[in-house]
Amino acid sequence: MADATTCYLSLGSNLGDRAANLADALRRLRNHPQLQILNVSSVYQTAPVGPQDQPDFYNIVAQVEANCTVKELLEIAQQVEQEMGRVREEHWGPRNIDIDILLYGTETIDTPELQVPHPQMMQRQFVLVPLAEIAPDLILPNGQTAADAALPDDPTIQCLDIQLW
Ligand code: ADP
Ligand code: MG
Repeated sequence: MADATTCYLSLGSNLGDRAANLADALRRLRNHPQLQILNVSSVYQTAPVGPQDQPDFYNIVAQVEANCTVKELLEIAQQVEQEMGRVREEHWGPRNIDIDILLYGTETIDTPELQVPHPQMMQRQFVLVPLAEIAPDLILPNGQTAADAALPDDPTIQCLDIQLW
């Protein structure tokens, strides 16, 4: 078996019971034989990107050990989204669950279906703040550490006191 790869996933929800949706997605990922969840951030309530007339998101970042390729990891993430009945209406619109791959080890992939590192991660404090919480010393694609890239005082991001698992 190939060596496991340390990966970071971003999970978000802004429809229905947002905390329950995140917990459900984590449970489904954890039950997957090729994945091991090593660490999960606090839950952060964040203002939506794009259309503003939608509920705030609940966001987390999970550190995952993956015994699969990055393409298989995307398939697993999309399978969980489908199992949870994700409905996708407008781009950047409300969704009960969104699972994005931020980093897969230090690998770079740039295909129409999959770009890793996630192209928007360095512009998204709702990704960087939870990432810095669980992996402050992680080196990001621009050479900064997660702790240096995160702006924990961003007023659009609030750490909630919710226990997910
Ligand atoms: P977004 O996450 O940008 O709001 P979607 O979740 O609807 O949008 O994803 C749209 C497509 O993005 C997916 O079908 C997938 O093929 C593609 N994609 C490209 N790179 C990634 C990545 N790093 N993680 C997850 N999906 C990705
Ligand atoms: Mg997505």
